[in-house]
Amino acid sequence: MMRSFVEVAAESHFPLQNLPYGVFSTADEQRARCAVRIGDFVLDLAAVEEAGLLATRCFNQPALNAFMAAGREVWTATRQRLQWLLDAETPDLRDYSALLARALLPVDTVTMHLPAQVGDYTDFYSSRHHAENVGRMFRGAANALPPNWLHLPLAYHGRASSLVVSGTPVRRPCGQTRLGNAKAPLFGPSRALDFELELGFFVGPGNELGEPIPVSQAYRHIFGFALINDWSARDIQRWEYQPLGPFLGKNFATTVSPWVVTLDALEPFLCDGPAQDPPPLPYLSSKNHWTYDIHLEAQIQSAAMGVPATISRSSFRHLYWNVCQQLAHHTVNGCNMRPGDLLASGTISGPAPDSYGSLLELAWNGTQPLDLPDGTQRTFLEDGDTVILTGWCQGDSYRVGFGEARGTVLPTSDVNR
Ligand code: CA
Repeated sequence: MMRSFVEVAAESHFPLQNLPYGVFSTADEQRARCAVRIGDFVLDLAAVEEAGLLATRCFNQPALNAFMAAGREVWTATRQRLQWLLDAETPDLRDYSALLARALLPVDTVTMHLPAQVGDYTDFYSSRHHAENVGRMFRGAANALPPNWLHLPLAYHGRASSLVVSGTPVRRPCGQTRLGNAKAPLFGPSRALDFELELGFFVGPGNELGEPIPVSQAYRHIFGFALINDWSARDIQRWEYQPLGPFLGKNFATTVSPWVVTLDALEPFLCDGPAQDPPPLPYLSSKNHWTYDIHLEAQIQSAAMGVPATISRSSFRHLYWNVCQQLAHHTVNGCNMRPGDLLASGTISGPAPDSYGSLLELAWNGTQPLDLPDGTQRTFLEDGDTVILTGWCQGDSYRVGFGEARGTVLPTSDVNR
């Protein structure tokens, strides 16, 4: 098995088989630049590039967009080069102590940033279990899935400006809500703040306006994946979403994990998605193994709890629409994608109640409160609650993981109190 000269713990998400990319800065050097993660260290790729050990010229930048734009051949060649450089048997970097001293840094000494400058963020709705749960709650079992759902991957355009990196606190939003069937709405803090357990992918080279990406070529445009928490104010959303869709109930914050796991790292974990019936239209027809067996978890930790409690265990493999279908559908009308655009999966719920990916479903719209270890209950999030999303693929005695996407709920801004 491949082994690095950098020590990697057995349970680590970041062995030599992973090598996810991110963007970091340090107190000494506040200029953000690109890195790769190995064990509990980040390797400064700007420094490795400058030392002449890489063929690329795109890492001395505060975002991965240039590398994302370079395309699949460059991604694969760079990954192979980094695996070779970090291998225990390769002396080039291992014995270059002057470079290692400034380029290999303990991760707890660096500040992570968003991995890309995201021009556009889109959120899909591709988990059938999630869509059916929400439909059963609000439209009844007979109309659980909207009539279009099995024919196209539904999505809405999100807001890129409020994407935040893991660790950034999230303020409880205020807005208009309507209690029951009251005549007039109220204004105030959301009483139904929720998380959504998702994965998102960053777009690579992208396409010209008017030139769709065919489903068969979509994988060439997908750089890699990160965990996404698409925070949601259910009460604001419920009042505002018809007929134009989500707006202020969704766009106040979306948390992104800092490490982008590449398709090459995930390849050993490719698996079949759910059977699609009816068969999708030809432009969406793909070989049905374009999904990955990625174990996902959501944890919650109140201010009174010493350790987080796991409240959901799900899997990316439950997604009905795969990422190639999402990208093909998003561009079929000629809509252009740019390097660094972020397309998220939508809440990933599994079939069992403990695999649901939101509090809305876990507590069934407030009717089945969740018991927490501190003796309190939750139907939605309280101020001071921290939500932690994590996920990994289990290999043969190694893991390819995503780290975490973490955020703590802060009280409403003083402006609105
Ligand atoms: Ca969502």
